[in-house]
Amino acid sequence: MSRIVIIGGGQAGVQLADSLRSEGYQGAIDLFADEPHLPYQRPPLSKDFMSEEDGASPLPLRAGTFFGDRAVDFHQGVEVTSVDPVGQTVVASDGSTLSYTKLVFATGARNREISVPGSELVGIRYLRTLDDAKALQAELGSAKHVVVIGAGFIGLEFAAAARKRGLDVTVLEFGPRPMGRVLSQFMSGYFADVHTDSGINLKLGEGIASLTGVEGKVSGAVSTSGTEYPADLVVVGIGVLPNSELAVQACLEVDNGIVVDACLQTSDPHIFALGDCSSYPNVHTGARIRLESVQNATDQARILAKTLTGKPTPYEALPWFWSQQGAVKLQIAGIIHCDDESIVRGEPASGKFSVYCFRDGRLTGVESVNSPSEHMAARKVLEQRLPLTPELVMDADFDPKSFSRQSAFLNPNDKEGLERPATV
Ligand SMILES: Cc1cc2nc3c(=O)[nH]c(=O)nc-3n(C[C@H](O)[C@H](O)[C@H](O)COP(=O)(O)OP(=O)(O)OC[C@H]3O[C@@H](n4cnc5c(N)ncnc54)[C@H](O)[C@@H]3O)c2cc1C
Repeated sequence: MSRIVIIGGGQAGVQLADSLRSEGYQGAIDLFADEPHLPYQRPPLSKDFMSEEDGASPLPLRAGTFFGDRAVDFHQGVEVTSVDPVGQTVVASDGSTLSYTKLVFATGARNREISVPGSELVGIRYLRTLDDAKALQAELGSAKHVVVIGAGFIGLEFAAAARKRGLDVTVLEFGPRPMGRVLSQFMSGYFADVHTDSGINLKLGEGIASLTGVEGKVSGAVSTSGTEYPADLVVVGIGVLPNSELAVQACLEVDNGIVVDACLQTSDPHIFALGDCSSYPNVHTGARIRLESVQNATDQARILAKTLTGKPTPYEALPWFWSQQGAVKLQIAGIIHCDDESIVRGEPASGKFSVYCFRDGRLTGVESVNSPSEHMAARKVLEQRLPLTPELVMDADFDPKSFSRQSAFLNPNDKEGLERPATV
């Protein structure tokens, strides 16, 4: 009998198991998940889970009956420790060896760690897993001064939640702007103001130099400017590293993630990779990228299920993201570069507006604040490559919703043609 082995019980792995059954796959599915919990959603961990005094409940990815109902052999708390691509077997931490017809890496990513003096002190935390979140949540109850290292999405979501609970919060960011690599300059500046206005002490251009402590417990964070900020809790959010060591051991090509082609196949025809751990050729940017988002993990899983059931399908979904920072909901459609030309539509002071980003006159992405309908319209425009220009966006009569609906009337030749990257 054919057997698909999935390594990783996160967003991508669970969706793949589900979608394989929806696509009619009747062989065995074995899903290995090294965390001790039933699969859960990560996004709430830095948002609602931290905002509430007694902690919100973790949100499961599927009902408890899912694995039985879908005939998925779920190996809870079991790590795959080695892969033999020649014999097509995996070895797991419970001592078992299993052979596969197809193997899928859905191993996700792990936190990048700091290594400055004092990194080993008690009270220095990271946020990736439910266990991380529970530990952090427990310490928030008694903490007074929190220092967050890194003004990325997760660091700022956590900072906003901690501030909402009345804590003194300092955020140290080495770069000149918060979320500087992934947002337009305008949006980044907007968020700097939002967080500063809420009372967060946002220090831009200041990295972490060392951590100080008393009796083994952190008491302060010294920035690269030499200033020491008081801290009884430090949260590090400086990005992630893809979990690709097993893939290296299996002699797969790895370059900032497990390298896959448009159908998510690795350099071994029997092995695939998806989600945070994989690097794929993105049709919208023409470049190879590795994304960290729920949309990417779940959409890749749905597409891979088609390929694994005999309907090879390239992954071409438009990337989109969201973040909730205090009262501000940010939604991003497409991939934005900080130096894109940006046009603001709406009134930022009202707390509801969008930023349209262009590169060489072509729309690359749209950032929307508290404007879900404009975000949905932007996704349609980008998905269908409708010819939106900066001039059109600047026109006072521009209506994103009706523009996004015009595709039915367009000659396909009028849509923007993008070069598709070659698959590897
Ligand atoms: C705090 C937080 C907030 C987030 N907020 C958002 C958000 O607002 N919006 C958004 O789009 N995205 C958000 N993300 C990102 C999103 O959660 C990830 O992109 C998504 O979970 C990726 O899914 P994945 O299945 O690829 O990886 P993961 O969810 O990381 O799952 C991979 C799993 O594989 C396991 N594993 C690894 N190696 C092995 C092995 N050898 N054997 C067995 N198991 C293994 C890992 O332990 C992990 O459980 C957030 C992430 C975090 C941490």
